[in-house]
Amino acid sequence: MLNTLRKIVQEVNAAKDLKAALGIIVQRVKESMGSQVCSVYLLDPESNRFVLMATEGLNKRSIGKVSMAPNEGLVGLVGSREEPLNLEDAASHPRYRYFAETGEERYASFLGAPIIHHRRVMGVLVVQQKERRQFDEGEEAFLVTMSAQLAGVIAHAEATGSIRGLGKQGKGIQEAKFVGVAGSPGAAVGSAVVMLPPADLDVVPDKSVDDIDAEMELFGKALEWVREDMQELSAKLAKQLRKEERALFDVYLMMLEDAALGGEVRAIIKTGQWAQGALRQVVNAHVARFELMDDAYLRERASDVRDLGRRLLAYLQEERKQQLTYPDNTILVAEELSPAMLGEVPAGKLVGLVSVQGSGNSHVAILARAMGIPTVMGAVDLPYSKVDGIAMIVDGYHGEVFTNPSAELCKQYRAVVEEERQLVKGLDALRGLPCETLDGHRVPLWVNTGLLADVTRAQERGAEGVGLYRTEVPFMINERFPSEKEQMQNYRGQLAAFHPLPVTMRTLDIGGDKALPYFPIKEENPFLGWRGIRITLDHPEIFLVQVRAMLKASEGLNNLRILLPMISGLQELEESLHLIHRAWGEVRDEGVDIPMPPVGVMIEIPAAVYQVRELARQVDFLSVGSNDLTQYLLAVDRNNPRVADLYDFLHPAVLHALKLVVDGAHAEGKPVSICGEMAGDPAAAVILMAMGFDSLSMNATNLPKVKWLLRQLSLSKAQELLAQLLRMDSPQVIHSSLHLALRNLGLGRVINPAATIQA
Ligand code: PEP
Ligand code: MG
Repeated sequence: MLNTLRKIVQEVNAAKDLKAALGIIVQRVKESMGSQVCSVYLLDPESNRFVLMATEGLNKRSIGKVSMAPNEGLVGLVGSREEPLNLEDAASHPRYRYFAETGEERYASFLGAPIIHHRRVMGVLVVQQKERRQFDEGEEAFLVTMSAQLAGVIAHAEATGSIRGLGKQGKGIQEAKFVGVAGSPGAAVGSAVVMLPPADLDVVPDKSVDDIDAEMELFGKALEWVREDMQELSAKLAKQLRKEERALFDVYLMMLEDAALGGEVRAIIKTGQWAQGALRQVVNAHVARFELMDDAYLRERASDVRDLGRRLLAYLQEERKQQLTYPDNTILVAEELSPAMLGEVPAGKLVGLVSVQGSGNSHVAILARAMGIPTVMGAVDLPYSKVDGIAMIVDGYHGEVFTNPSAELCKQYRAVVEEERQLVKGLDALRGLPCETLDGHRVPLWVNTGLLADVTRAQERGAEGVGLYRTEVPFMINERFPSEKEQMQNYRGQLAAFHPLPVTMRTLDIGGDKALPYFPIKEENPFLGWRGIRITLDHPEIFLVQVRAMLKASEGLNNLRILLPMISGLQELEESLHLIHRAWGEVRDEGVDIPMPPVGVMIEIPAAVYQVRELARQVDFLSVGSNDLTQYLLAVDRNNPRVADLYDFLHPAVLHALKLVVDGAHAEGKPVSICGEMAGDPAAAVILMAMGFDSLSMNATNLPKVKWLLRQLSLSKAQELLAQLLRMDSPQVIHSSLHLALRNLGLGRVINPAATIQA
């Protein structure tokens, strides 16, 4: 059964559009179950009816014509109850409804399974049989499994269908909306530029071109370069390979000839297809043919063709990258955005980001927030490889992407962009003012930094210090571990830029979703694995070098604070403190005169919440990492778009944990800050202040909004609100009560400028 399932899903995945996909489904399911009928009904959201979309066995002329409401017929029953239905004699069921045009009166038994994707009923899969008999358990299980597997494929095909025709740059195609996760607030109206993973033929889309000669020339160049590579490689390996092994290179060279692959690709380019698309078609056809061969030697040739295809594609992509000019309002779209990609687009041209993978608390989303670029993460149904060059809107407040938006929607979003611009401009005046409530309570607002550009932005926004410098960011954009001297120069830059304000430097926090290209870690559960302090305690040489660099960098400035990430208990803290003291002793022996800097611990693992007083006794300050604390308290991977709905820092459990931390720290007489993304959410900042956090550290983009909001309130009002929220047990009610209270106070403008758009 598993094999059959896998084969069908593979075939359906490769279908060119939704219609073809549904055709394959009904045909293959009917064959493998040996039934006389298999049909798919899809729920049309506009009419709210299940429409017959494909059938094998019923009258094909009824496709698209027969439909039923959720309260009609057996199909409606399966869809509305969201449960399979297995009937020996369908006609005797009270909900049976007869459609003469289908010719279904001949079939007695009925088995239907709902097709559900992310809790949404998409349709119903039905098999029918002439003889009166109940389908057995195995058949029922097969259909249910089939429909669960097909739900995602159908959702994807549907989404692709809604923006089909993109080869012609999507002209005349309808607007479509794709829901993801809010990554970085703000809206953008622009054109999509897709970054495809290098040399992956499977994701290359079809695209028509006007200048066929230019495509031919480009392909000719790629062929030439691959030929040269092959000859060079063959010459280099001449001594190590036997003659017959070297013959493989001749085979490769032959495949590139006009009589083979080369000619076939050219023939397709002539029809107006771009070179990359033509290459994908030819290579995939050959690979499929080779893979079906019985002869093992010939089957192996599939990998040779694929390898050649990849080499050609790499050159075609490289050339295109050289020629690529980014349009003025570039919206960068990728399957998985990486920090490096953000740097590829020239400054001033990047207005929005869309990632198919990842979630609102992935580190790339945190960087996007720091840079103030509206971002949608986890747009899992967006057929990203097909949207290059089309008009697009990114709504980073709600986590929505619109392809081919209407003129009206563009107008509405342009107004939001303008409103946001005006708001930010208006907040400039706050720069030199303290963050002080109406009743005189001061809360220092600090920034989180990592990139060099953050320093200028932070200063422009009036930050009062750095609450979190993510030292791993410079490590991530390097090609090897930076030396002590390189690190020292880097840290000195940060400390000097903010002097005399405090700069909190966190020791290396890699692992999880933060990988170093030169120190790969492969794990099943990276967020529960080798991360943060666990790595650096296992590698004291890395830790000691980093701490020494920090200490030396602070000579004469003395505004350094050291912060330890991912501490789960006292032993880790004591070992870390021991190493820091050792490093301090060493640098002092080398003649560097610096006092011991304050050392703090991050509270981001639930265990640390319950040991907060013991931990606080050993250090000078605490800082809550609410990103990880939320992830670990709620057991929701911060990177996984499937569970992004469950990730909520206003969950009552998180609020109560935060309260415990603040009270615990203060009971030991130690200050406590918060440096997770929650602190930069203006509404959340109100309750964090009310809880008693001594400072809030956030991205520079949001700092003025937080300052504006806190200056409009009194501490006593905020405390009243917090007391009410802490009595509530539902995250949704907490959200709406908090937002409503702020709106009622006339403070809604910094919460969500796009709230009024009804798309
Ligand atoms: C946190 O976990 O809240 C935090 C600030 O650290 P990071 O996001 O870098 O894991
Ligand atoms: Mg963290």
